[in-house]
Amino acid sequence: MNMAAAARISTKWSPCSKAPGYGCKRYGLLIAINAHIFGSVETLYKAGSDEQKKRYLRKLATGEWVAAHSVTEPEGGSDLGNMQTIARKVGDRWIINGKKKYATCGAGADLHVVYAKMDDPERYRLSCFLVEPGTPGMTVKPLPATGLHGSGLSEVTYENVAVTDENILGKPGSGSMVFQGSIERERACIFGFVLGAMQKELELAIEYANKRVVGGRAIAGYQAVAHRIADMKMRLDASRLLLYNVTALKSANKRAPIEAAVAKLFISESFVQNSLDLIRTFGGNGFITENGIHTFLNDALGTIIFSGTNDIQRNIIAALGVRG
Ligand SMILES: Cc1cc2nc3c(=O)[nH]c(=O)nc-3n(C[C@H](O)[C@H](O)[C@H](O)COP(=O)(O)OP(=O)(O)OC[C@H]3O[C@@H](n4cnc5c(N)ncnc54)[C@H](O)[C@@H]3O)c2cc1C
Repeated sequence: MNMAAAARISTKWSPCSKAPGYGCKRYGLLIAINAHIFGSVETLYKAGSDEQKKRYLRKLATGEWVAAHSVTEPEGGSDLGNMQTIARKVGDRWIINGKKKYATCGAGADLHVVYAKMDDPERYRLSCFLVEPGTPGMTVKPLPATGLHGSGLSEVTYENVAVTDENILGKPGSGSMVFQGSIERERACIFGFVLGAMQKELELAIEYANKRVVGGRAIAGYQAVAHRIADMKMRLDASRLLLYNVTALKSANKRAPIEAAVAKLFISESFVQNSLDLIRTFGGNGFITENGIHTFLNDALGTIIFSGTNDIQRNIIAALGVRG
């Protein structure tokens, strides 16, 4: 390799520097907006009655109201078949009891889209409810986290919370179907901001590698550094194509469970890897807090967990695409 040429890494790589997340490093805020739109608003739009849409959709779509989508429980979010929150019909009311954990936007939400198991010993069925936070028996506790600050992550407790049929999204017992549609859209779309974040990381790495002189030369001239940055670029481009692939399918109203799982898995793992590689490129300057380089990794860690952990994505890909 010509070492003089290798002393600079090309900066002509930025076909899409306006990707969402590029200019706003408050990824907690972006994930909150995305969870609101893809987890809650689209779910209401797809499954809600005309009356529910009239009551909530305009406020939610304009951002006047924020909604939280609550599925996960303290006993294990990966196992939807073990939901402990129960909705019991008493007269014309549904009485909800249980606890939800990690609801993005939960702190400060004006509406909660929440799933509960129906009190039916014969069959395991879920229903999806719309609950306003002022409803007696409902308490919301913010959950401080290591990254994605501003996402409003919360624990929500339901203690004899009474609602009516009007609060059910879809039909009673159709919660699993509502959830499947919702999680596929969320998984497909919520990672858009990661493309912008990875683009920013790439540019920071290139700029630093070309500027930082060690041993009498810019570190970009060391093949180990240059190749690491080349891999960051490769992961970003592959992530973009996977995201565009699944969002095109969803825009065409097609089912895309494998494509959504593949995109979620690859993009989030790439974000973690690129964040580690950015820190490696910065050396000690990536580790001290004043440069803010470490925050990419803190935020990236959340992405391998939400919308179903990456172990669960591999389960989905294996079940739907590998075992035939
Ligand atoms: C930033 C962030 C935002 C979130 N936002 C929301 C939200 O808005 N709404 C919401 O409802 N939830 C939300 N969550 C929760 C998230 O969906 C859950 O944390 C996730 O589904 C995992 O559940 P758990 O934390 O209970 O882990 P567990 O289910 O306890 O899993 C623990 C470990 O075991 C593994 N594991 C468990 N079961 C299996 C299996 N069958 N096969 C292979 N491995 C398995 C997991 O992969 C994981 O490594 C959010 C989480 C984070 C971090």
